[in-house]
Amino acid sequence: MATAGKVIKCKAAVAWEAGRPLSIEEVEVAPPQAMEVRVKILFTSLCHTDVYFWEAKGQTPMFPRIFGHEAGGIVESVGEGVTELAPGDHVLPVFTGECKECPHCKSAESNMCDLLRINTDRGVMIGDGKSRFSIDGKPIYHFVGTSTFSEYTVMHVGCVAKINPEAPLDKVCVLSCGISTGLGASINVAKPPKGSTVAIFGLGAVGLAAAEGARIAGASRIIGIDLNASRFEEARKFGCTEFVNPKDHSKPVQQVLAEMTNGGVDRSVECTGNVNAMIQAFECVHDGWGVAVLVGVPHKDAEFKTHPMNFLNERTLKGTFFGNFKPRTDLPNVVEMYMRKELEVEKFITHSVPFSEINKVFDLMAKGEGIRCIIRMEN
Ligand code: NAD
Ligand code: ZN
Repeated sequence: MATAGKVIKCKAAVAWEAGRPLSIEEVEVAPPQAMEVRVKILFTSLCHTDVYFWEAKGQTPMFPRIFGHEAGGIVESVGEGVTELAPGDHVLPVFTGECKECPHCKSAESNMCDLLRINTDRGVMIGDGKSRFSIDGKPIYHFVGTSTFSEYTVMHVGCVAKINPEAPLDKVCVLSCGISTGLGASINVAKPPKGSTVAIFGLGAVGLAAAEGARIAGASRIIGIDLNASRFEEARKFGCTEFVNPKDHSKPVQQVLAEMTNGGVDRSVECTGNVNAMIQAFECVHDGWGVAVLVGVPHKDAEFKTHPMNFLNERTLKGTFFGNFKPRTDLPNVVEMYMRKELEVEKFITHSVPFSEINKVFDLMAKGEGIRCIIRMEN
């Protein structure tokens, strides 16, 4: 490619300050260094994790920064030492990487890579501690190693999954975070037995994907819990069979669920980021066998409080990033599930806007409207 080895000037949506609308700027994107790749982003979408760190209310602020981590694109050029990827490959970026060398990557049970696990406080590349983005020579920070709200971005090779080039990037881009996270939280971590009852807290894209995963696993009752009742109708398409809005009850939602299910649900998956919902998700599982899985990203000072007897009574609490999928090894297979029509992705995509209207997507999420909105980089 003519651009390989050179700085690329392109458009990126820069967050200059916490909570202020992004502004589309011309940025300079340096060439990829050793073990890095530069990717042309074609489609991206907004996940609530971007919003948390952009608002920076309960998180470490780091600005100016380029957010974005759910996306699809094509490799433009590769740095020294990169052998698994080449220009033209179709890829999905992932906020948590896989180096394939460390004890976690070698363990069948973990996806918490020692080198590349999610780090929201790092705004630079691992290799040299510098940013690849700049405006007039001033560095702009990266976000979770991906920064996909830019026409070109540089990532560590371990944070990039190569996928089937026939998969439509405008659809499978949503598999790069939210949908795989929720799906994996159910099928890989909660593992609901056939015929079981599952509670899903939070019916955004992640929670709806968790509901879909519970249905694929064979759960027969899937109870959706959300404070926003407008989510309920849509959630039926994702396998939810019943709904609870905590606002409609004077009793704690744990008790409401226990009464609905003869003592508690078999599995629960929390997809809100709210610590009270996390506690409720744990306390609503049945004693003896219940398993709760936390997925939401909590406030930095949040503390989880519950009576230890809840554990002694044989309830299990787990948590997961990216649904325990190993990004490079497993994500191409999730894309294949879509290609084989075992997983429907279209129903998660409710809106689409050109890159110039990226701030509208933040408004949609703030209002709780729609599920995922595709941001088209090219038109
Ligand atoms: P979203 O905003 O689209 O959905 C969240 C839903 O939770 C909303 O419908 C909201 O009304 C509901 N909600 C909020 N507080 C609640 C409460 N107390 N009780 C019941 N419902 C409540 O967000 P999303 O993009 O689906 O992401 C969901 C969460 O998952 C976020 O916290 C996000 O940061 C996190 N996340 C985690 C991972 C991971 O790997 N662990 C990956 C992606 C996203
Ligand atoms: Zn690793």
